[in-house]
Amino acid sequence: MKPINEVKINLLSCSSNESFARVAVASFIAQLDPTIEEINDIKTAVSEAVTNCIVHAYKERIDTVYITVSIFDNRVVKITVRDKGCGIDDVKKAMEPLFTTAGGERAGLGFAVMESFMDKLSVRSKSGKGTTVTMTKQLSFRARSNG
Ligand code: ATP
Ligand code: MG
Repeated sequence: MKPINEVKINLLSCSSNESFARVAVASFIAQLDPTIEEINDIKTAVSEAVTNCIVHAYKERIDTVYITVSIFDNRVVKITVRDKGCGIDDVKKAMEPLFTTAGGERAGLGFAVMESFMDKLSVRSKSGKGTTVTMTKQLSFRARSNG
């Protein structure tokens, strides 16, 4: 299916770009007039995915994070966050709540958060090649006021 609108944002994996990514995605989605809750859910999920690129995928270097935000008919939003970093050996295990390879520094809840704030989450990864996280969310059809 073809999107009715789309934006691609490529940014370096500097930690200062995490908040930019979150706000950039939110401002693109704003054309759908989402609820505050929907915007916050999406910002939180994007933040987790981008942070994973920064702290895990490109642990030893700064490299590019590729974000695509697509809007489909019927208020469906799809966001992909891709890196060409270290990849994940066992995706199923990585997605389990509380699993982390970062020792005591991290909670291991990023994927669980993405899963709960979005409707669908899929993670494809190849060790040594990189990871693609795809998240979709159906925005609500609420009545609009004219005032
Ligand atoms: P938290 O997100 O709570 O700070 P976390 O990042 O360890 O902790 P998750 O976001 O759920 O938890 O990720 C689980 C594990 O999956 C990570 O510890 C890491 O090993 C691996 N991982 C996640 N995203 C990537 C990625 N883009 N590249 C490589 N490894 C990743
Ligand atoms: Mg994380």
